[in-house]
Amino acid sequence: MDVAIAGAGMFGLATALTFAENGAHVVLFDRWGVANARATSNDHTRVWRTAYGPKRLYSRWARESLEVWKRWEAECGEQLFQQTGVLWLEGDDPEFASATRAALDALGIPYESLAAGRAASRFPQFSGIEDRRALWEPLAGVLFARRACLAIARLFERRGGKIETAGVASFSGRRMILEDGRDISADKYVFACGPWLRDIFPSLLGGRIRVTRQEVFYFEPPAPDNFGPGEFPVWLEEGRRAGKEFSYYGMPTLDGRVKLASDERGPEFDPTSGDRTTSPESLAQARDFLTRRLPALAPQRLIDSRVCQYEQTIDSHLIVDRHPDWENVWIAGGGSGHGFKLAPAVANALLREETPDEVRLKR
Ligand SMILES: Cc1cc2nc3c(=O)[nH]c(=O)nc-3n(C[C@H](O)[C@H](O)[C@H](O)COP(=O)(O)OP(=O)(O)OC[C@H]3O[C@@H](n4cnc5c(N)ncnc54)[C@H](O)[C@@H]3O)c2cc1C
Repeated sequence: MDVAIAGAGMFGLATALTFAENGAHVVLFDRWGVANARATSNDHTRVWRTAYGPKRLYSRWARESLEVWKRWEAECGEQLFQQTGVLWLEGDDPEFASATRAALDALGIPYESLAAGRAASRFPQFSGIEDRRALWEPLAGVLFARRACLAIARLFERRGGKIETAGVASFSGRRMILEDGRDISADKYVFACGPWLRDIFPSLLGGRIRVTRQEVFYFEPPAPDNFGPGEFPVWLEEGRRAGKEFSYYGMPTLDGRVKLASDERGPEFDPTSGDRTTSPESLAQARDFLTRRLPALAPQRLIDSRVCQYEQTIDSHLIVDRHPDWENVWIAGGGSGHGFKLAPAVANALLREETPDEVRLKR
């Protein structure tokens, strides 16, 4: 075996496929299998965007990743990406928008700065944004996350890769020890266990990754539906109301549902045994937000919901680095609520054994 990978979320899957495309013999182990109910990557959709303020690495990685996503989409014959445009309603912090503009200018990524009033007239579904400036990313959109997990797994198997439903218990010296007692020997090991990474390397990652409870709601579109892609974008808004900060984002109607979620970090969550029932309080807050901002959605029926987890690092940077004790052991994780889109670039970095400063394990 050339490469053994623990974790078949999108980081592990993209890494497995990328190494297999480059001729490696790869085996991918996942405790509960591809697209399992607990995996962070296993939701309906994830946003693809390049606006990252001053964190230019991710604007670059997002662009690099989209090229790969489109190639994989063509190879698997299923739609993985939907271009919708992304609308950022600018908040009180002008720094983020100006740093984003500078980064996108430097990288030649198209965007439009919308003066106050422009977003409101372009997207009349919003209420109360007449005085808001906005940043419009026309090429941005949505990745169909669960569908992509299953499709990438199939592409990987078509390349001769092997996926086993088996948990990795630990890494000791030169071997990966599985929960069923087997030990696995490979030239290179990649640990991509998302929020479970800290269980495998508790002393290294216990203090670096915090796992938070995040709730996602899907509403039935109104009739007639003027929330479809083309009429309505992916959008993000951060702000302050009644002395409290809020941060919501949402999507157009995709597969018959309109998504809304809060990006605020929730309480600590156990990704194995935590209760995944959404709370009536969060739903009430979401409806309250919709009443103010997207009133046509506020009374709509809730048709799906999900409790997921952010594997939040201290500084929201990903972790893509060698284990400090072993040359041939790599860690890929710390998605911090924005990692999915970047998985192909993470995989390329692992292939090239590159660790940009931002994603190094902070010592
Ligand atoms: C609500 C929410 C919204 C998000 N929105 C976005 C977005 O819009 N755009 C974006 O780019 N990103 C977004 N993200 C972040 C993104 O989903 C994650 O960064 C990404 O999916 C992480 O993938 P991963 O492979 O690191 O982890 P995971 O998908 O969690 O995969 C880890 C895998 O490891 C397996 N595993 C665990 N323990 C073991 C073990 N001991 N042995 C073997 N296998 C094991 C698990 O079964 C799991 O399949 C969001 C996340 C959440 C929760």
